[in-house]
Amino acid sequence: MTALPVLAVIFAAAVVISVSVGVRSWRRRAEAAGFGAITVLAAGAGWWSALSLTGLFAREPDTVLWVLSLAYPGIFALVAGWWATSRALTDRSWRLRRGSAALLAVEPVLTTVALASNPWHHLFIDHLSPTGVDGVLNAVFGPLFWVHAGYSYLMVVLSGITIFRMYARNPRRYRGYLPAVLASLPSFAMNVAGSLSGGRLVDLTPIGFALGAPVMYWVVRHGSAPASAPVTYRELIRTMSDLVVVVDGRSRVVDHNPAAGRLLALLERDAAEIFGELPAEDAEFSVTDIAGTGIDLSVRVSVLDTSATRLLVARDVTEQNRQRLALEEANDQLRTQLEIIEILRGDLAEQAVRDELTGLHNRRHLMAELTARVETGRPLCVALIDIDHFKQVNDRYGHPGGDEVLRRVAGVLATAGLDGDVVARYGGEEFALVLDGANVPEATARIEALRRRVQQTPVRFGGTDIAVTFSAGVAEAAGTGDVGALISAADVALYASKADGRNRVTVGRSPAEIGT
Ligand code: GH3
Ligand code: MG
Ligand code: MG
Repeated sequence: MTALPVLAVIFAAAVVISVSVGVRSWRRRAEAAGFGAITVLAAGAGWWSALSLTGLFAREPDTVLWVLSLAYPGIFALVAGWWATSRALTDRSWRLRRGSAALLAVEPVLTTVALASNPWHHLFIDHLSPTGVDGVLNAVFGPLFWVHAGYSYLMVVLSGITIFRMYARNPRRYRGYLPAVLASLPSFAMNVAGSLSGGRLVDLTPIGFALGAPVMYWVVRHGSAPASAPVTYRELIRTMSDLVVVVDGRSRVVDHNPAAGRLLALLERDAAEIFGELPAEDAEFSVTDIAGTGIDLSVRVSVLDTSATRLLVARDVTEQNRQRLALEEANDQLRTQLEIIEILRGDLAEQAVRDELTGLHNRRHLMAELTARVETGRPLCVALIDIDHFKQVNDRYGHPGGDEVLRRVAGVLATAGLDGDVVARYGGEEFALVLDGANVPEATARIEALRRRVQQTPVRFGGTDIAVTFSAGVAEAAGTGDVGALISAADVALYASKADGRNRVTVGRSPAEIGT
């Protein structure tokens, strides 16, 4: 068995592999630029392999020359595809631009011209020479071929370096990139061997590329999935209302989205001036009234790499803050109003139980308190006090004089009240005292003391002293629980004081005694 059938099978296999990879990546070409690049790469490898296969069976020198020449579009496609693949793998947003395509076409066009005109100058293919394989012919190349080869090598090597550098930067994330580079090495070795053999060897380069193509396909598939994500992300960032700003280690704005652009244009300052000294690690902070624009921002900083490139995502929270402040203000107002209402309510409640002229408790409060206390059955005494000849005071000093006497007497009575006592204006010039826990002798002694004090303290009014006395009746609540009876017992005693000549204290018979 000779080498020829073996080579034929290998080239045929290379065609099958290339076509299958090419078809698969062509179908996915819309997903990522890398698939387009692999399609070109696989097409080149397939075409070149197919022509190499044909070349194995050509014996006519002219036919061989044709086959050799026709292989070149495949070679061009391989070189361009490999370069494009390297770009697509290292830059997610890469797309083949018209300018790059035009540049890529220059060398193929020149090479094609050189090949087409070769019969006249033999500078590309010098002559054909038999290889070591069963009369298969191969080319011995001239200087123009080496120019072409140099260009192709350079492109392939630079592309390989591009991919390898990506791998070296982050071997864990880009671990698939290493096989991609390694996959190009066999074709490389085969090509060097073939080219340097001076035509004695059959060129096996397309086989190397055909074997590399599935690896590249795999790398692109895993390196760019989900393939449409970059486009989606870019669109999202472009249209979002949040501000996205990328700043470098020196806080210079490197990139930003349109939303951020509007603010940056508004301010015409760099990031450090706007956001202040940026933290060197991930952080969140907010800036109010940013650079005097009235805009409040909530900013999130993420450090992207070791060179301190940072991603700032800022949200305009002006409206949010405004609403929060308005709410706080409204709450404050409400709280103040509630406090005022509480004070007024207290005042009102106090007013309801007070007598306006004297400031003592009023009769209503007295009766309520008395009722509550009498029900407990605890000992207490009630004293009713009535100012003597008060009408005469009014008559002599006028109503204001009378009022002054009422206030002064009330003042004296108020100081006499102990804890738990009630001192009230009962009506007109009458007062009532509830002496809590006091028995009759104690109550009588205390009222008697008050009587003396009032008598000894004339009321100064309008430049004269008004002599004031009062009469009082004291009664004890002896467990009957009858407030009416208690009051009337005190009233009867008061009446007795008046009848006995006024300015005295009389003890009434307790309701219990009256009842018997
Ligand atoms: P008595 O010793 O018998 O109690 O004689 P009195 O003059 O004190 O008794 P009387 O009940 O006849 O008079 C009470 C007077 O008190 C009548 C009324 O005009 C006056 N008076 C009632 N309330 C007030 C008040 O708020 N201010 C003033 N200035 N006078 C009042
Ligand atoms: Mg009276
Ligand atoms: Mg009186």
